[in-house]
Amino acid sequence: MNTARIARVAVLALATLVAGAAAAPALPNIVILATGGTIAGAQPKEGDPGYKSGSLSVESLIAAAPGMDKMARITGEQIASIGSQDMNDDVWLRLARRANELLATPGVDGIVVTHGTDTLEETAYFLNLVIKSDKPVVLVGSMRPATSTSADGPLNLYNAVAVAADPGAKGLGVLVVSNDDLFAAREIQKT
Ligand code: ASP
Repeated sequence: MNTARIARVAVLALATLVAGAAAAPALPNIVILATGGTIAGAQPKEGDPGYKSGSLSVESLIAAAPGMDKMARITGEQIASIGSQDMNDDVWLRLARRANELLATPGVDGIVVTHGTDTLEETAYFLNLVIKSDKPVVLVGSMRPATSTSADGPLNLYNAVAVAADPGAKGLGVLVVSNDDLFAAREIQKT
């Protein structure tokens, strides 16, 4: 191949790449607001019994659920790091204000809230009353801590991001993902 031909092929390849990139639909932007819970729970020390809720950062939760980046551009924010038995008005208000702020931002397409299951239903109900947006808001927790064998948090989080990234979840009110299923905030109860 002579130099002119190589240059032509390179220009063509570049044009194809650019066209491909332009044609590919942009991934939705999902923000994960972490509050703690068993989903972020960890064994304090190897060999110790039990675990502490809210030990892991939102970044660790995101890193533990590979593949989410194929569905959405994900960012995380730490709202709190508590067991949800300790949920309180201060955290609730911080969470609701930040969620409303983010949802009012044109670049944000949906929100996932990681939460302990003890009071997940109360937070879901509360957010359903105070969120002023039809963009998806999805709460998720787990039954087993992140350091346990077969931790369920990563798949639960993956599922929650899949729902939040789906335009079909718009206008449904606050949702809860649990056990591979989807619930409305008004109808969920831990039993
Ligand atoms: N005590 C934990 C919490 O609510 C229970 C759980 O997450 O499942 O934070």
